[in-house]
Order: sequence, then structure tokens, then C-alpha cells
Amino acid sequence: MSNNSFDSPPRFALVAHDARKDEIVAWVGRHRDQWASVSIYSTGTTGRRIAAAFPELNVTALKSGPLGGDQQIGAMICEERLDALIFFVDPLSPMPHDVDVKALTRLATVYDLPMACSASTADLIVAGMLGNRLSS
Ligand code: PGA
Repeated sequence: MSNNSFDSPPRFALVAHDARKDEIVAWVGRHRDQWASVSIYSTGTTGRRIAAAFPELNVTALKSGPLGGDQQIGAMICEERLDALIFFVDPLSPMPHDVDVKALTRLATVYDLPMACSASTADLIVAGMLGNRLSS
């Protein structure tokens, strides 16, 4: 990975657990000037929320997480079809979708895929990969 040197549109997976869906929509909005050339892949409900809030974005909504959407993201990681994973997990619920969190963390580590579970780390990934322009 190198800064802003993609031969094809960058591919970001954006996933959020229920308690953090408002947060990921707000986070996408803070970066809205940076998504123009980005292909976004999301689990079903997250993707529909993002697409409803920002219809101009290129969002592909996969299956809902509990129905296998996280595993579809995992398949994309191991096929090297993603450039970053933003996964806002809910740390305040006990064992939230624990198997999915572990599986995606493991695959992102295996494939050295930039992965963030919080807004500040996600900001750093976007700044490093797409440039440093936050919207107010
Ligand atoms: P959802 O899935 O976006 O379909 O709610 C998220 C998840 O369970 O990881």
C-alpha cells in the first residue's frame, strides 16, 4: 500500500454493529469529500444506511452480517479484493458477534489489510490512503 497510488478505485469495506451504525454514518459523512473514487462494500444493513444517507456514493450492500455478510467480507479479504476494512464493533455488548469479529481480525492480520475498529484509527487509514481532507 502506498499513499494515493491506486491503479484502480480503492476498495473499502465498511461494517458496523447496530449500536454503532449512527456512528459509522456520521464518520462516512465527515469524509464525504474523499469517497468519490472509492468502491464501498458493506454488510446489508450498514450498507443500506450509508447509501440512504449518501446516495451519491458507490456502495455495494452484501448480505446482512448475521446472514453471512461478514463472511462475504472475509472472502473478499482472502481474495485480496479489499484495500481496507473499517469495522465498528460494539464493545459494550457481551461477546458481540464474537466469531465474526475474530474471523475478520484474523484474516485482516493474515493479509496485512489496514483495519480499524474506531473512528480515530479509521481517520488515520483514510488520511494515509485517500488524503487528509475532513468535512466539517
Ligand atoms: P449489518 O451487519 O450491517 O447487516 O447489520 C453487521 C454485522 O453483523 O457485522
